[in-house]
Amino acid sequence: MKIRTFLLPFIFLSSIVFPSFGKTATSSLYVHYIDVGQGDSIYIKTSDGEDILIDGGNNDKGDDVVAYLQQQHVDDIEIMIATHPDVDHIGGLDTVLKSFKVEQVYAPRVSHTTQSYLDFLNAVKNEGLTIQTAQKGTALGLNDVSAIFVGPVKSYSTDDTNDWSAVLKLTYGKRSFLFTGDVETTAESDMIASKQNLRADVIKIGHHGAKTSTSEVFLNGVKPTYAVISVGKENTYGHPTAEVINRLKIHKINIFRTDQQGTIIAKTDGTHLSFNVRPITSNSNIAH
Ligand SMILES: [Zn+2]
Repeated sequence: MKIRTFLLPFIFLSSIVFPSFGKTATSSLYVHYIDVGQGDSIYIKTSDGEDILIDGGNNDKGDDVVAYLQQQHVDDIEIMIATHPDVDHIGGLDTVLKSFKVEQVYAPRVSHTTQSYLDFLNAVKNEGLTIQTAQKGTALGLNDVSAIFVGPVKSYSTDDTNDWSAVLKLTYGKRSFLFTGDVETTAESDMIASKQNLRADVIKIGHHGAKTSTSEVFLNGVKPTYAVISVGKENTYGHPTAEVINRLKIHKINIFRTDQQGTIIAKTDGTHLSFNVRPITSNSNIAH
């Protein structure tokens, strides 16, 4: 009985304190690898109810991304990240910018002259926003997760902007996620050489599983348990390549694919990590 009386003030206190965190707060972080065909679009909802969008798929996927976010009851987007100027990543972002209030936009400091990229820049401008530079060491000011860009580490040629990809490492409790855009082996090696802690439980595989990404050295640095490949059905690039799939299998990494499984949703309370579907390959090393 004594214990019960002792606990009462705490129960009372917590009932006052919790509403101040906002109505949408839960104890879990969710990462949605949205099925946008050939391209990337990732929506993250933190346990504190903050919304992050990494990329927005191709031009014709903008409406789908908006519909998906509405379905998830997104009211505004605290942080939008354009990993790099390729159309399968930034194409739909102008539509998202027109549909939601976006507070901050991050992108690497590399320009591009395509109409899709200009549309994105104009949409950012029309919202009265300025792009903040995504580069190694830049941290996002979020309430209960740590999110820091681990790439790009340096400048690259502007002929191919893949290595410029903004690479974000997000940590909630004991669980980490790495979002790699279309980063290729040169930038992967630069990240490893920069001696940052790249360890992550879940990696979004770079460049849709192209063989010019996901090197051995990078996998050894990240040491993921799960890999998510965002890729279109019967795409003309041959993504994901057998080379990358084999590399992941050799490392006993469990694979999810949006072309075969649709949208992949990861959920973590900071300790346990679960997915909405089972990996297409699995091994006995999975920690349940
Ligand atoms: Zn891409």
